[in-house]
Amino acid sequence: MSLEIGLLLPDVLGTYGDNGNALVLKRRAEMRGIDATIHEVKLGDPVPLQFDVYLMGGGEDTAQTLAVEHLAPLVNLRAPLLAICAGLQVLGESFRANGRVVDGVGLIDATTTTLKKRAIGEIRTRPTGVPGLTDTLTGFENHMGATLLGQDASPLGTVLMGVGNSDSSGTYDMADPSAQLSAEGVVQGNVIATYLHGPVLARNPQLADVLLARATGQDLADLAPLDLPEVAQLRKERLAAKRVERF
Ligand code: GLN
Repeated sequence: MSLEIGLLLPDVLGTYGDNGNALVLKRRAEMRGIDATIHEVKLGDPVPLQFDVYLMGGGEDTAQTLAVEHLAPLVNLRAPLLAICAGLQVLGESFRANGRVVDGVGLIDATTTTLKKRAIGEIRTRPTGVPGLTDTLTGFENHMGATLLGQDASPLGTVLMGVGNSDSSGTYDMADPSAQLSAEGVVQGNVIATYLHGPVLARNPQLADVLLARATGQDLADLAPLDLPEVAQLRKERLAAKRVERF
């Protein structure tokens, strides 16, 4: 078995170290005896849709405006895709960048406006949106985007510490505004999107294995457990970290 990993626009959406997610996925596959290759799809390259799993990271406003034009073909993607921060925003219906409303790819039912205040710091969530994903999620958020979910999208988790998708900057003309306020991330079909940097797969190995299982057509429970003391140590530290308000 081999795993073909598509890393989308690492040159444009690689500002926050999220390219590390590809390395984690590759390594965890190899430790299970699965050969894995990372295919970087850079700005200007055609976007192939035949890889087993796709990853995209975060970036600044100008970068994500460039990215969205290039990533329109993703609207037909069926493979599992993990998108981080600007990646999440770009996949939605629209987002704001440099004060302008920009149309997104439209793969997920999410719209991004602007927070009252930049969300920056450690974040922890309780996963709710993905079967088998049970371990607390830990990451670092750094965004101005306030993402509201439509009917077809579910949150990835509920915020335990930090801001997540949105603050109280918007008027929510939806049934349950408190659910929007405590939501973090998006799950819709085979897309998992989150504001968590870290890289998120380094901090949350169970999430890496969810993607690996989906990409290889296995059950999560059938992946051999990996005993990695350094990963356990990292999780212990990050799960104990406090949020420091910087601004
Ligand atoms: N530019 C976007 C925002 O500030 C995304 C930032 C990011 O990817 N970390 O909301």
